[in-house]
Amino acid sequence: MNALNFKDYKFLVVGAGLFGSVVAERIASEKGDRVLVIERRDHIGGNCSSFIDPTTGIECHKFGTHVFHTDNMDTWEYIRRFMALNNYRHRVLAKYKNAVYHMPINLSTINRFYGTDLDPAAAGEFMANEISKAGISRPQNLEEKAISLVGRPLYEAFIHGYTVKQWGTDPRNLPADIITRLPFRLNYNSEYYDDPIQGVPKEGYEAVFRSLLSHKNITVRLNTDYFDIKKDLPAHLIIIYTGPIDRFLDYKYGALGWRTVDLDVKTIEKEDFQGTAVMNYTEKSVPYTRIHEFRHLHPEKFPTAGATVICREYPKPAYPGDEPYYPVNDANDKKILEKYRSESPKNVHIGGRLGSYRYLDMDDTITEALHFFETSLKSV
Ligand SMILES: Cc1cc2nc3c(=O)[nH]c(=O)nc-3n(C[C@H](O)[C@H](O)[C@H](O)COP(=O)(O)OP(=O)(O)OC[C@H]3O[C@@H](n4cnc5c(N)ncnc54)[C@H](O)[C@@H]3O)c2cc1C
Repeated sequence: MNALNFKDYKFLVVGAGLFGSVVAERIASEKGDRVLVIERRDHIGGNCSSFIDPTTGIECHKFGTHVFHTDNMDTWEYIRRFMALNNYRHRVLAKYKNAVYHMPINLSTINRFYGTDLDPAAAGEFMANEISKAGISRPQNLEEKAISLVGRPLYEAFIHGYTVKQWGTDPRNLPADIITRLPFRLNYNSEYYDDPIQGVPKEGYEAVFRSLLSHKNITVRLNTDYFDIKKDLPAHLIIIYTGPIDRFLDYKYGALGWRTVDLDVKTIEKEDFQGTAVMNYTEKSVPYTRIHEFRHLHPEKFPTAGATVICREYPKPAYPGDEPYYPVNDANDKKILEKYRSESPKNVHIGGRLGSYRYLDMDDTITEALHFFETSLKSV
């Protein structure tokens, strides 16, 4: 590998995930400046990364199922130049006591769960009655909030156990505002997202990132950690850092809390394991939260060769060395995050999901990267 000559570049992007790749693309093609992208892992794409499983030929998502979805047409107009989507529409099913239900809760879920045959209007009255029976007007925690939205029986079946596994604590210990919406539908619409644009990249995420990073002004260097080269960087470089904000400031106020997942990937000698891409397991007694089956993300590629790839997801706290997935964001995290955010190192911009310590969907990440470029980099 050639030694890096940093003086050839005006910009350094740390991290070849979505935020860093969009920013690098904008710098290269809009400003015409040269940009170096370094990535500590051995692949581009960050947490969106996907690869072809060599045994089955199935496109697998390395960090769990990633479905692109958006209702932001400006963001879509930008990213569609690099990403052609297939016709996959996301649907999630949930297994509870050996029966399968639609998620989010819809008319099918309600009728199946309660053994009823209600039409939309009757189901609306029924749900209003379930909610009022719970008698919660000012929810103080996640449990009370969820019950105030769907009633106690549906909460106990579909939300309680799943939340305990996901967050590793009783939902009564979690703030009510984790739930911003817990929709139930009074019809048989079983789509997970309401967004008009949805799908999975036809050629996989690797192809999307290769295209984003293909401009001649962009150099990508994998297996390169910012903290290993930091001391060699010239002062003129403008740095866009998309790693964890606490790591950037050497954990001086302490480490921010994250949840992560262990992913147990298996190839199964079956054409089809579960008949859908994502099956949630809502009971506390089942140790995993969901099973992904990647072949279903590409209905256009059916049939495959008599084997399928599945992945069980086991949430846990993120320890040093684990990949951070979901910010815990408890009171202590909020306090130390404020301290980290109040420091603005010279010539360094911090962004992306790890830098901002927020869960961001892919479309929000792209929107933020485009906005950041326009407001902070375009005129530099
Ligand atoms: C389990 C899970 C499922 C998801 N599913 C969906 C979905 O279905 N739909 C959706 O829209 N969104 C989904 N998302 C969100 C999506 O993953 C994010 O929007 C996206 O990955 C954010 O991109 P990013 O560039 O900010 O972060 P990342 O993808 O994490 O990229 C940051 C990159 O920086 C690199 N880096 C960090 N530190 C250093 C360093 N010191 N030196 C060099 N490189 C460094 C990292 O290795 C990483 O590659 C999901 C997220 C998770 C956790």
